[in-house]
Amino acid sequence: MIGRTACWLAPVCVGLPLLTAPVARAETAADLLDRLVQAYPQALAGHDGDAIIWRDGTRMPAGKLDPQRSFDDRLRNATILDQLSQPYPRGQPSTPAVNADPGRFRNEALFKKMYGDCSTGGVTRNLVTITWLPKSWGKSVSVTRINGVAERLKRVSAEIDELDPKIRRAAFPIAGVLSCRPVADTGRMSMHGYAAAIDLNLDYSDYWLWSAKKSSPIPYKNRFPQQIVDIFERHGFIWGGRWYHYDTMHFEYRPELLPPQAR
Ligand SMILES: [Zn+2]
Repeated sequence: MIGRTACWLAPVCVGLPLLTAPVARAETAADLLDRLVQAYPQALAGHDGDAIIWRDGTRMPAGKLDPQRSFDDRLRNATILDQLSQPYPRGQPSTPAVNADPGRFRNEALFKKMYGDCSTGGVTRNLVTITWLPKSWGKSVSVTRINGVAERLKRVSAEIDELDPKIRRAAFPIAGVLSCRPVADTGRMSMHGYAAAIDLNLDYSDYWLWSAKKSSPIPYKNRFPQQIVDIFERHGFIWGGRWYHYDTMHFEYRPELLPPQAR
């Protein structure tokens, strides 16, 4: 943006772009928590800077943004602020920087309260059945109804069904939704534990652990069509293909990492 004052005073806009161009401002903790609250309006009522406040009145500590904590510690013991701390890129995928894993920090207390605990039946009671790709595959899939995830996946499915058959082939058969077990390298529940993630066609998939032992940094691979990624992201789902520890068939509902129009 060119300086508004200069433009108002001069017959020809002679703003000083070098002095007045916007500088990207790092988001504060309050900004990050605003983003979280706006992303989950059915569950969250607000925050006070130190804690998020649920609609049922529960206060949950947001934790601290501590750059001294190791990546592994944040992966295994993510605070709510850790969960929001890595920016999620959009557009054509590029090789992620080492340990750039936006979305892999997940605060387990937050998601268990939101979706239920799969080990005690809390997730199952919120499952609904949708038909995945009715025009091209047409099989039933059980997903959570919390946060409108099932309805959003129906819209994703309808849009993928309209893609070129060669492209939509990457979206079926699906490799799974609900899986009540922790992620191998974190010991924490993935979004599959809440039935809020979907793995698409394994034949198109690349996964960091398959090549991690061979070289470092981990070589990035992806064969997933960008059109499918774009559709999921428009509906609030992030893609595992944007992670350094990539998992390219994986999509999970994480609207707090996407722009407001995707929520
Ligand atoms: Zn997955």
